[in-house]
Amino acid sequence: MLKVVVVGADGRMGREVVRAILREEDLSLVGAVDVHNQGHDIGTLAAGNPCGVPVTGNLGRVLEETGTDVVVDFTTPDRVRENLAIILRHRVNVVIGTTGISEESINDIDVKAREAGVGVVIAPNFAVGAVLMMKFAAAAGRYLPNVEIIELHHDQKLDAPSGTAIKTAELIRANREFVRQGHPGETETIQGARGGEYSGMRIHSIRLPGLVAHQEVIFGGLGQTLSIRHDSINRESFMPGVVLAVRKVIDLKGVTYGLEKLLT
Ligand code: NAD
Repeated sequence: MLKVVVVGADGRMGREVVRAILREEDLSLVGAVDVHNQGHDIGTLAAGNPCGVPVTGNLGRVLEETGTDVVVDFTTPDRVRENLAIILRHRVNVVIGTTGISEESINDIDVKAREAGVGVVIAPNFAVGAVLMMKFAAAAGRYLPNVEIIELHHDQKLDAPSGTAIKTAELIRANREFVRQGHPGETETIQGARGGEYSGMRIHSIRLPGLVAHQEVIFGGLGQTLSIRHDSINRESFMPGVVLAVRKVIDLKGVTYGLEKLLT
């Protein structure tokens, strides 16, 4: 039985992860950490039934008291680094869904995780369909190098563009010749109208209530366009990927970046 602690347990993703862990027979929820609803049973908050695990604010103490095998972190981009320092200090494996972690800090995390002798899975998107969307987009970029990425999320998301959009752009960049897109003389009448620029590609971020997590990658060629789109209709879409990462991270050392590395 793997002992799991969820950090950010009272958040939208955290509650979904709590429900998923409680459903799996080989996983045991031993801790729930959040700044909200401390002292309340996380089972009641997330699933309507108590599970005997109260929400607490002290991650270090939970790790000391429970003999945790894996921490799952779905918090905020500014909080995750501090959590990670505590987790690695306690030499515990960790699955990070929190987005906004830069490529440079991933190298640094890898060094520290290897020093601690533990595994770290970081995935900007745990939905299998989104991983496929990125894979297909990376393949298309080789033949259709003119591409724009439109990512659409709920309006409470803190970081823009999304981690998935950045990962998609990184994968396309690795597969295509550099192209400076659009007219060389184009100007923006309203600043930001052309979106953010990443290695010559444009990324547009839409934030609206009603959305969960969606992305469309549009390629343009002579007389044709190709659109590759993925939609997470609800947060359950991420759970098979999270549960897979929890089971696999205990056998890994250092950082594994991207769910695709865990899919066989
Ligand atoms: P949310 O705001 O609903 O939840 C974040 C939770 O973290 C909140 O309950 C908050 O109280 C808690 N928190 C904040 N500071 C904390 C601290 N110091 N200690 C403990 N808990 C703390 O956000 P969300 O929609 O659940 O998203 C969380 C993260 O997951 C975001 O970075 C989002 O982009 C990312 N996300 C990733 C995926 C993926 O597949 N990787 C999918 C969806 C969302």
